[in-house]
Amino acid sequence: MLRTELGIGTFDELLYHYPYRYSDRTQFNKINSIKEDTEYAQIAGTLVNIGEEGDGRKKRLIATLYDDTGSIQLLWFQGAQWMKKALKENGKYIVYGKLNSFNGFYNIAHPEIEVWNQENAVPGLQPVYSSTQKLIIKGITNRSFAKLTSALFEKIKPYDIPEILPLEITKQYNLCNRYYAISKLHFPENENQATIANHRMKWEELFISQMMIARLRLQHTAQAGWKFEKVGDIFNNFYKDHLPFQLTNAQKRVLKEIRLDTATGKQMNRLLQGDVGSGKTIVALMAMLLAIDNGFQACIMAPTEVLAQQHFFSLHSLLSPMGITVKLLTGNVKGKERKSVLIRLADGTLQIVVGTHALIEDSVQFKNLGLAVIDEQHRFGVGQRARLWKKNEMPPHILVMTATPIPRTLAMTLYGDLDVSVIDELPPGRQEIKTVHRKEMYRPGVMKFLISEVDKGRQVYIVYPLIEESEKLDYESLTAGYEQVKIWFNPNKYNIAMVHGKQDPDEKERNMQRFISGHAHVLVATTVIEVGVNVPNASVMLIESAERFGLSQMHQLRGRVGRGAEQSYCILMTANKVSDECYKRINIIVSTTNGFTIAEQDLAMRGPGDMYGTQQSGILKFKLADIVKDSAILEETRKAAQQLLEKDPKLQLPQHQLLKQALIEQGKEKHWGKIS
Ligand code: ADP
Ligand code: MG
Repeated sequence: MLRTELGIGTFDELLYHYPYRYSDRTQFNKINSIKEDTEYAQIAGTLVNIGEEGDGRKKRLIATLYDDTGSIQLLWFQGAQWMKKALKENGKYIVYGKLNSFNGFYNIAHPEIEVWNQENAVPGLQPVYSSTQKLIIKGITNRSFAKLTSALFEKIKPYDIPEILPLEITKQYNLCNRYYAISKLHFPENENQATIANHRMKWEELFISQMMIARLRLQHTAQAGWKFEKVGDIFNNFYKDHLPFQLTNAQKRVLKEIRLDTATGKQMNRLLQGDVGSGKTIVALMAMLLAIDNGFQACIMAPTEVLAQQHFFSLHSLLSPMGITVKLLTGNVKGKERKSVLIRLADGTLQIVVGTHALIEDSVQFKNLGLAVIDEQHRFGVGQRARLWKKNEMPPHILVMTATPIPRTLAMTLYGDLDVSVIDELPPGRQEIKTVHRKEMYRPGVMKFLISEVDKGRQVYIVYPLIEESEKLDYESLTAGYEQVKIWFNPNKYNIAMVHGKQDPDEKERNMQRFISGHAHVLVATTVIEVGVNVPNASVMLIESAERFGLSQMHQLRGRVGRGAEQSYCILMTANKVSDECYKRINIIVSTTNGFTIAEQDLAMRGPGDMYGTQQSGILKFKLADIVKDSAILEETRKAAQQLLEKDPKLQLPQHQLLKQALIEQGKEKHWGKIS
């Protein structure tokens, strides 16, 4: 039961099932003392009038709890029948929960509830564990958990929970010992003990993750790599005669970093961060020329067909005047063409290939892949990076490019094994994109503005949200939107293209191409266009139902315009009434175009799990620590991990053996092996 409901099957797991708060079962709120600003309350009283209301799916359970000063309602929307069976009319209970007020009356929905008797009325802090309704109904209450855990603590001795952190570290960072921490985390005598215990275990969690990253990084730096000895004719030629613009200082600096990295004889593992439009592509291209100059092949891998094509076209148009062949390899390249590309990659006559996931298939063999560029990294599973390595005996240099600026705390946790380059400067002459918030009631004005832009020769994007759970609904709102756009934009005069995730790839691509080529004036789309698409003539991005987009997503979308010389606009369309929280989010986008600022705010508001998909959130998931709130601890543990590995890179010292063991065990759990 515990195993299926909470994943607890061993004593160890019980030990690490920490309480999420503590309560003192002798301190109660009197019902008549509850005020507007009371957020949570613990009340002891008698339960009466237990009854169901509503029917079908809307069925709910209502009960009244009273003490000697007044009464309050308790509500259950889920599991009403179960709860009804478990609760006794006129029974005495202790109830805890978040207060809601309704017409001047207070209620608590889904409270923690426990029988109030002598046994429970122990003074001091009692642990409160997360549980499930099923367990509660089976009688496995919080109390039972506490009993189990406390029985366990009576059996074990301090040496059963040995210290895994070296003494030097616990001393330097003032951390209590592990046995103390875990026991006090379950049974603190006061708030202070709980805080100390909590700090110590958070510290340990973050330290372990930083140790893993630091060790991966050590592995990387020890990894031999191809040595790019020289900057040759091809690179110099391109720089002198074919570069269509002057590089920004930031681009020059990053190129230099790449050049130094690739000349060491060690493998490069570099993350290139640069806001949308900062000009990462040209940097990647020139890094590839460096590889060719030294007799190697290079590839660039993009997350979608459209993006791969776009890279292909821009590389092809820049490099073909120099007589350098670039080929495309995606799922759509078939037959003779595919065969020829594969043969030429294997015999080394093809120097640059642009592609999608198709590049990591086993059938793709390179003669001597020297550099692999991966664009828009977070769309790829982390494991896929690793597969590119295996294309040679010697792994290629790796350049990972991302357009989503990554807040420092996240970068330390997710990409701490990589060196980081940042392009922090936009090419000159870019005009700031004017961003405004418009409510539905101003739609006519907005649509007229779009038409006037199109009449000036520009193109516009209209983007609808697409969230998986309600895919069907979203599809309906997209097609309804499309019909509406057709009313505003006379189809006899204007061309409208539509792309969305439900189209088959060919159709999607055809529509995309109609817009890229300038044939279509308006592109109605879901977020499939979020990443990387480059249509410099597009000057307006209209985001529909902006309240449903994440900050980083809106920023990415906005980055699709402002790529040409024209003044560009981003319009965030919302319902007439929006929540305060939504206002706050919209205002962030309206008030800044700095991707790093936006990413920091996004992380703070949404947390890492939501921002970076499930695959990576496993690495970001801690029992106690929170990389945003505990960023100070994170910095500390990073330093500590580096210092420790400087002294003992292979963890051979006797005082590091238990730590090493813990790293190995946790490494298995979090699948660290699959990264990089
Ligand atoms: P991103 O970093 O978003 O991938 P791109 O590489 O697509 O950006 O570049 C955006 C646009 O800026 C492209 O049209 C590119 O040709 C142009 N560009 C890049 N670098 C410069 C520069 N130094 N000066 C002027 N234009 C540039
Ligand atoms: Mg790009």
